[in-house]
Amino acid sequence: MRWLSVLAPRRLSSRIVALSLGLLLLVQAAGFVATQASVGRNARQSLAAELQVGERVWRRLLEQKSEALVQGARVLAADYGFRSALGAAGDPETLASALENVGERIGAGVTAWVELDGTVRALHDRDGKLGDTAKLGRIAMQLAGSGQGAAAAAPRDRMVGLVQGRPVQFVAVPVRAPVLLGWVVMGFPVDQDIVDDMFALSGLQVAMLTRGEDGTPALVAATAGVGSDARLLAEAGDTVQVGKASLLLRRVTLAGADGGAQVLLLRSINEAVASYTQLRLVLGAITVLGLLFFGFGSLLMARRITTPLRSLVRASERLGRGDYSRAVDDTQRADEVGDLARAFDQMRGNLAEHQQEIRQLAYWDRLTGLPNRAQFRDAVTAAIHGSQAAAVHGAPALPLSVVMLDLDRFKHVNDVLGYAFGDRLLKAVAERLSQQAMRAGDLVARFSGDEFALLLPGSDAGQALAVAERIAAAFEQPIVLDDHTVDLAAGFGVACWPEHVQDTSHPADTLMSRAEIAMYTAKQKTASALVYHPGIDAGSAQTLSLLSELRQAVDRNELRLYLQPKIQLASGRLLGAEALVRWQHPQRGLVPPMEFIPFAEQTGFVRQLTLWVFEETARQWPVLRALGVQRVSVNLSTRDLLDQDLLAKLQARLQRHGAPAQAFCLEITESAIMDEPQRALATLNALSAAGFKLSIDDFGTGYSSLAYLKKLPVDELKIDKSFVMAMASDAEDAKIVRSTIDLAHNLGLSVVAEGVETQAILDQLRSLDCDEAQGYFMSRPLPAADLPAFAAGWAEKLSAAASAAEAG
Ligand code: C2E
Ligand code: MG
Ligand code: MG
Repeated sequence: MRWLSVLAPRRLSSRIVALSLGLLLLVQAAGFVATQASVGRNARQSLAAELQVGERVWRRLLEQKSEALVQGARVLAADYGFRSALGAAGDPETLASALENVGERIGAGVTAWVELDGTVRALHDRDGKLGDTAKLGRIAMQLAGSGQGAAAAAPRDRMVGLVQGRPVQFVAVPVRAPVLLGWVVMGFPVDQDIVDDMFALSGLQVAMLTRGEDGTPALVAATAGVGSDARLLAEAGDTVQVGKASLLLRRVTLAGADGGAQVLLLRSINEAVASYTQLRLVLGAITVLGLLFFGFGSLLMARRITTPLRSLVRASERLGRGDYSRAVDDTQRADEVGDLARAFDQMRGNLAEHQQEIRQLAYWDRLTGLPNRAQFRDAVTAAIHGSQAAAVHGAPALPLSVVMLDLDRFKHVNDVLGYAFGDRLLKAVAERLSQQAMRAGDLVARFSGDEFALLLPGSDAGQALAVAERIAAAFEQPIVLDDHTVDLAAGFGVACWPEHVQDTSHPADTLMSRAEIAMYTAKQKTASALVYHPGIDAGSAQTLSLLSELRQAVDRNELRLYLQPKIQLASGRLLGAEALVRWQHPQRGLVPPMEFIPFAEQTGFVRQLTLWVFEETARQWPVLRALGVQRVSVNLSTRDLLDQDLLAKLQARLQRHGAPAQAFCLEITESAIMDEPQRALATLNALSAAGFKLSIDDFGTGYSSLAYLKKLPVDELKIDKSFVMAMASDAEDAKIVRSTIDLAHNLGLSVVAEGVETQAILDQLRSLDCDEAQGYFMSRPLPAADLPAFAAGWAEKLSAAASAAEAG
């Protein structure tokens, strides 16, 4: 497969070079083929012209020789001695010697005197080869005949004839005195000498062919270059192949030769074409040079493209690694590569900016513009290092403190007033925190949601606690946004380095987490601020996880509404019910409220819980009313009473389910009111004015005076179960119950006894004129859906008791 990569190279530069070289080779090859063809054609044309000229040279050569013979014969014919020897008395000896003289002088092969009847009277045959008298006579008669036959034309006085298979050029000159006496006939053999002369004159190869009686060709004379194969030459067309040489050929027929005699003129094509070899070499050299130049040029060009491309690839690899610092090369170039590099560099710039922004985001809280947890942590680390470094140089290590705070009701604000409002509240809190007289070097950060932190370098735990308390005090001033007045409350946790953080490899993290634990503990204890101490660590982990679980309980639909019936003591009829919450925990099962309500109160979560219970009860209202229930009770906590918008929230839910406020009795404990009597009173007044009935729950456990109760808009007292349960056995408790009932009635309040577990207590309460009773004797708290069944059973019991009484 390696060879494939040569045909289709993978690298761009190799491809460019290969492509341009390939194209060049193609063009050169086409040029070569075209020249080759035209060279061949030209060579043949010029050879043909050369052969044509050669034919003329050949004819001229024979002409000249014949002319010399004619001149010689004429001189002889005019010679007196010769003429006189012609007479009848003429001496044959004289005649022969005259013929010999002339023949030898002009180099004729044969000289003869032929009389009118064709007889040869005298003959000189130089080489003894041409003395065929019969032939000579016939030739003389032919020449004479043709001369007379065509009187107007010039007499044809020469011809070629074959003598013993060899071509001979003959001439005949007539002798008149004045009548025609006969002819002097002279001839010379057309032989190797003439062929050699022709070669010397023209440079052409020559072959002379004759045909014998039987038609077989014979080579009479030839130059060296034509070989000796007579048949091959006789049968060849335009060209003939002799050995390695290819020869172009022209046939010249010797005029008058009987039986056919031909001269072939030949010229080597190879030799002719050889002159073009030079041209081919030059072309080849140009091709090679062209390939070199092209290869080099295209390599340079490819480099100019691929080098910047490679640098762009490296640049994009750097970008991939997140390194945006180095500018892209080649942005100065004016061509498209430059455009690409500039676009790329612009992108790099944008990415770098983006990265900067992301870094900013990673360090700042977008909403409030405060540093975030990451920056805070770095600042704590730096402060600790600074302090340590100073200590090394002899100075005592300056302490530093972290204060962490968490707003109490923030999730609730979000839920009720919306996230936009929540955001604005957080901004206002951030502003307040920043205003709280921070010293230089102090840092305020927002961690998440409603969690903020302060870094106080140089402050010990005591100083930090003072700062926390100052902020808590400042929070007492409610924040007013739009028409809403929001009371701020928060839990504060303080931890100090090096006091609370020792022997740890991550002092900053430990310091922050200890401040957080202190904060949660403060919230649990409903203390505003707390300094970390090792003792609070133990419970904190469980507390934290419980809080997050409780938050999820609502979303996961794990809360259950239970109802406990209340009866009218006088008639025994079902009159009301108290709503009590349960938590169906996925692992722990049904969790009783005492295990999570106090905790929910500490963390502020109880407000959501109250709303949930109220909403579920309102939803049940139509069913309850149908059962004859006149009023249903819902418990409120301290936190609820401090919520200025409680009424609005309750009304919104009433409206949703079409229930009247008069159908609800809200139970409040004494301690809830005593926590902040002023604000509690305002809330109670508003609730009462809106039509809600109000009840004091667990009455007797607190320290509130009845005189104070008089000022509250309450309708009902609920005697705590501890007194009720014990009244059968404890005379003291029975006394308390009795006097409470009396007092309440004097104040115009109705009285409910909770914790009624026996018939005896029920009877006792009835005799004390208590208005209503609630307790396990009638029913334990039931799932809301089970109340109708209870109501039916209870009504049956009542009528059975009534008929028994009648019967008795
Ligand atoms: P509570 O408001 O005084 O409710 C009465 C509690 O006394 C209920 O306990 C009830 O089951 C129990 N009880 C009723 N009759 C008897 C009896 O004959 N004998 C005994 N031994 N106990 C009886 P529960 O349901 O465990 O609730 C305890 C407390 O949890 C409630 O006291 C209330 O303060 C609080 N709580 C329950 N549900 C809610 C709620 O939805 N919101 C708020 N804020 N607090 C709730
Ligand atoms: Mg209650
Ligand atoms: Mg109670």
